[in-house]
Order: sequence, then C-alpha cells, then structure tokens
Amino acid sequence: MPESDLKTRVADARGHLSKSALSNLIGADRMQAESGKRFSVEDPATGEPLAEAADSAAADVEAAVAAARAAFEMGPWAKMKPTERGRLIWALADALESHAEELAILESLDTGKPYQEALTIDVAIAASELRYMAGWANKVEGRTVPSSAEGEWLIYTERRPIGVVAAITPWNFPLMMVARKAGPALAVGCTVIVKPAEQTPLTALRFGELALEVGFPPGVVNVLLGHGEAGAALVAHDGVDKVTFTGSVDVGKSIVGGSAGNLKKVTLELGGKSPMIVFPDADLDAVAAGTASAIFFNAGQCCTAGSRLFVHERLREPLVARIVEIGQGLKLGGGFDDGVTLGPMISAAHRERVDGIVQAGLAQGADCATGATAPDRDGYFYAPTVLTGTRPGMDVVDKEIFGPVLCVQGFEDDDLDAVAAQANKTAFGLSGSVWTRDLATAHRMARRMTPGMVYVNLHNFSEPGMPFGGTRQSGWGRECSEDTLDAFCETRSVVVNLG
Ligand code: NAP
Ligand code: MG
Repeated sequence: MPESDLKTRVADARGHLSKSALSNLIGADRMQAESGKRFSVEDPATGEPLAEAADSAAADVEAAVAAARAAFEMGPWAKMKPTERGRLIWALADALESHAEELAILESLDTGKPYQEALTIDVAIAASELRYMAGWANKVEGRTVPSSAEGEWLIYTERRPIGVVAAITPWNFPLMMVARKAGPALAVGCTVIVKPAEQTPLTALRFGELALEVGFPPGVVNVLLGHGEAGAALVAHDGVDKVTFTGSVDVGKSIVGGSAGNLKKVTLELGGKSPMIVFPDADLDAVAAGTASAIFFNAGQCCTAGSRLFVHERLREPLVARIVEIGQGLKLGGGFDDGVTLGPMISAAHRERVDGIVQAGLAQGADCATGATAPDRDGYFYAPTVLTGTRPGMDVVDKEIFGPVLCVQGFEDDDLDAVAAQANKTAFGLSGSVWTRDLATAHRMARRMTPGMVYVNLHNFSEPGMPFGGTRQSGWGRECSEDTLDAFCETRSVVVNLG
C-alpha cells in the first residue's frame, strides 16, 4: 500500500476506534458488559487512549459460556461434517488475508509493533496456522484395538471434541495467539470463548467478527473483553471444559488452581529464559545478526526470546561489540514511522518492571554494554540493552524480563556437558539455540539441551506443523502441529460384544 494511503487508513482507524465502544461478541450479538463498565485501551507508542472496551465480569462470562455450550451441544455446529468445518476454517484464513492490511493496522496500533512486521509476520502466520488446522478437520481418527479376551470383540476408539474451550491470550502476538488456539479447537469440533489481553483486544474481536462473516454458526467463536477477573471467572466456570492459556508463570499457576472445580483440562504456554550457545567456529556475521534479532525482535516481548547468551571467550568481545552496534542501530518508533525496527513495551507498568529488573542487575554488579535506559520520548520505549558480567542468582539472569535485554556470559570450557549444564540451569525450558559450523557439535549439543525447542544456527522459529511448547515451568503441552489436537479431544473407547 502506498505510504500516503497507509497514513490515511491509520487516521481513519484511529478516528473510528475513538468513536466506538468495543463490545463483546457473544453468539451473534455485540454486547457491552452487563455492568455497563468499560476500560480504556491505549496506544503504547504514544500513551494516548485508542478505544473504550467492555469490561466483562461474571454475568458476561455466564452469557458467553451459555452461547458456547448451546452451539457445542445443539444446532448446526454439533451436526456439521468435518469437511465443512475444515472449509470454514480455511475461509477464515482467507478472510484474515483479505483483511490483512486492516488487521495489521489494528495490531500495530494496539501493540506499537512495526506495521510491516504485523502484516508479514503476525497476520501471515495466523492465516497459515489456520490453513494447516483446516486440513486436520477431517483427519481426527480413532483406531481399532486387537483383543485377547475370551470371545469375540470389536474395540475401537473415537476422538471426540472436548467441549467449550476458553482461550486466554497475551498481548505480544495478539492475533496469532488467537488463531493458534482457536484453529485446533475448531478443527476437532469444539466451541471457543476468546479472552484477549486487556492491552490488545482489537484483532481478537475482528477475528470473531470475521468468523461470523464467513459462516461459522453463532456461538462457535465468542470474544469476551476484560481484565484478568474475566479470565479467572472463565477458568472457574463449570460450563468450560478446557483452558488454553499463554502468558505469565504466575497466572498459569493460578489457572491450574482455578480450574480444579470441574477438573477441566489445561494447557499452558508460559514463556522462558532461552539460552543461545555460541561456539568459537561459528560465523560471526550470522551469529551477530541472528542473536541480536533473537533478543530485539518484537522488543524482546517473545516467549522464545534468546535472553541468555553463552559465548566462547574467543568470540565474546567481537560478538558483544557487534550486537551492541546492531542494538544501537535499531530505529525506535511507532508502528507506522518510516524505517522503524523497534516498537515500545506494551505498557508503562511493563516498562517499569523491565527497567526495575535491569537496574537491580546493575546494582548487583552487572556491566552495561549498551542501553539500560528509557529514551526520553512519548510512549513506553526501552533502549536495546546488553549486560555483561551477569551470573545465575541475579534476577536479570533468572527471571523472564520480556524486554530487549540480553545477558552475556563467556565460557572457555570445551566440555559440552559443562556448557549444557550452565545453559540448562533455569526454571524454564521453552527454547534454546546452538551456533556452530560443526555438525557433530550442533547435534551433540542439541541432545544435551532440555528445552522443548532447539534451534541450530537460528533462533525464534515457528511453523504450523512443528510442535511448539516447553518443559519445566515453560508450561504444559504443545501448540501447533498434530500434537496439539489431542489437547482438544477426549478419546472414547467403544467395546462391542460380537458373541
Ligand atoms: P498475564 O497476566 O499472564 O496475562 C495473560 C492473559 O491472562 C491475559 O489475557 C490476562 O488478562 C489473563 N489473566 C490475567 N490474570 C488472570 C487470571 N487470574 N485468570 C485467568 N486469566 C488471567 O501476563 P501479563 O501480566 O500481561 O505479562 C506479565 C508477564 O507475563 C510478562 O512480563 C512476561 O514475562 C509474561 N508473558 C508471557 C507471554 C508468553 O508468550 N508466554 C506473553 C505475555 C506475557 P489481562 O490482560 O486482562 O490481565
Ligand atoms: Mg493497547
């Protein structure tokens, strides 16, 4: 789209948002919260308000669950053939693509991320993950089980949709997370209530509206706006059969407790503190570009962000210098600014948290190679930051910061077990990367690493067919791929006495 058209469309979108109050989407109805309460959604690149949104509470959760239950148990969705479900999911992917510019504008306004990234990464991946899941809709098979019991028996299994799914999503990749959770749920025949993060409701709502437009029956995709309380009420509700959550470890743990009432099933994607291990034979240019992108992409607000760099002493100084240079060369700005490459933190509170951890690290003896400051400008920006001399026991090393903050540690040891032991020393286990030109070192190291995803000569990667998720406190279960389908199914065994 030409630059001037984009500026006009952004201005139109801002104008439209400022005049309208965002409503919940429950069944086919757009509804304000029953209490009439609203909250303000802001533009993190300026700190200015963008829109007002319905602030849902228990009564609204009740209505959304009733709509999702009715759609699951009765009506066209419950009777729909798998191929038809697949066709609708595919049509929704088409709709995301035909509305790609509109969705990318909304995503960029809501998160502050560069518009081009929203367009070519967020919206594009959301559509491709839906397409992948559309293909699964008519392939969710059972099996037959040979019997050794006396007599003649037929035993077979069916994988049934689990029921009503609450998808509680974060603010870092808002649309992509909704698609990632709704896609498999819809493919197997569940109904969904999406609760987007309070900071970023815009694209989740459009996702729900587009689902209705392409022909999903009302109640199959519902969108409930609001704060964590609305999420907690969904988690506690007996009419919800499954929660799929992405967000913080603390909320993940509260969801485990909150779901105990009806023992609903839970999957959790909770982030990490991912190591990047650089061996001395690695290609310096490629490592510098790859590791800098691993921590600075999306302003470090990625669950897989490469936040702990372990680099062999022979490469440490030149690599740190190159990453610092790349960090200092990033262009901070709002999503629609010319040539912007680094957006803001999502909120004032989040930037304060990021800076608090960084300042504590400096007070504990870390050295600052660059950054560790909030630039003096509107919006919630934080300078790309590289800290050296960090060690386990410091919060900068142990806690997920979720900002553009890299901790560097050197190693001299050539013993892979010793290097792996350092990298694996974390409460998390989402991802990790190995950088080397030596094939055996790469695979031997990958084998010694504990995260759910290991990358070789890259960091941060997602593919609809690749299982995505982590070990330890990075969560429960896997998203994407065939592996995620069972998280939305119950297996039913049927035994037939053949006489
Ligand atoms: P969060 O509180 O865990 O929020 C994630 C989602 O959970 C949001 O939709 C949130 O709603 C909802 N929620 C909050 N409290 C809830 C509760 N008691 N029951 C059910 N749902 C609840 O995350 P955050 O506070 O925005 O971010 C804090 C930290 O979480 C970040 O610094 C980062 O470390 C981590 N994080 C990880 C990921 C990831 O991709 N794994 C993504 C985002 C954040 P509200 O937004 O309305 O509170
Ligand atoms: Mg926002």
